[in-house]
Amino acid sequence: MNTKTLKSNGTLNTRLNGFSIDDIGDDHLSTGLETPMKKHAFAMSDTEKKERISLLFEEIMDVMGLDLTDDSLKGTPQRVAKMYIDEIFSGLDPKNKPKIALFDNKYNYNQMLVEKNITFYSNCEHHFVPIIGKAHVAYISSGKVIGLSKLNRIVQYYAKRPQVQERLTNQIANELKTVLNTEDVAVVIDAKHLCVSSRGVKDDTSSTVTAYYGGKFNANSKIVELQNYINS
Ligand SMILES: [Zn+2]
Repeated sequence: MNTKTLKSNGTLNTRLNGFSIDDIGDDHLSTGLETPMKKHAFAMSDTEKKERISLLFEEIMDVMGLDLTDDSLKGTPQRVAKMYIDEIFSGLDPKNKPKIALFDNKYNYNQMLVEKNITFYSNCEHHFVPIIGKAHVAYISSGKVIGLSKLNRIVQYYAKRPQVQERLTNQIANELKTVLNTEDVAVVIDAKHLCVSSRGVKDDTSSTVTAYYGGKFNANSKIVELQNYINS
């Protein structure tokens, strides 16, 4: 449960499961499958959102003491606002969800199809710094097939949100299951978190692997087969 209390000295103290932000530190907690969004998240137009973010980001820069009249800096608030809404967080808005067309499985191909090494860029929702990774997605057709580029687009859509890797993995898997009308999907993600490598513990060599195996992919032989394709 997420609760916000205003301390007597006026600072906002956010607590999660009884732990404060300082208690949690750099540990990444995820609260559920759905990206936590407030009600009426899309009442404001994209143009209004960009105007507000621009003003707020300008204030952050100003508080840090940066000179916003400098030629190099003065356009930054608008650039950041545009980048947030149109690019790196565009996956928050359902209107940007890829439209998926399915085709009949005319070739009667009934083995797994693996789309591997899909490069994605996301951002950690706890620090707002990049997560850079590769996603491998697989499915076994239930009679319909999907355009290969759409597998990539589904990954990119969910990556373009403030994320935690576990949720990203499950959101991609869930979308594949819904679109393809089958439980037989798998998602493996191997990613580097810049909040771990560029700051905090500054570990530049570790990466994080998460996986979702649904339906037929729960069989050991299928997992081995999938891993062989990914590693080949
Ligand atoms: Zn982080």
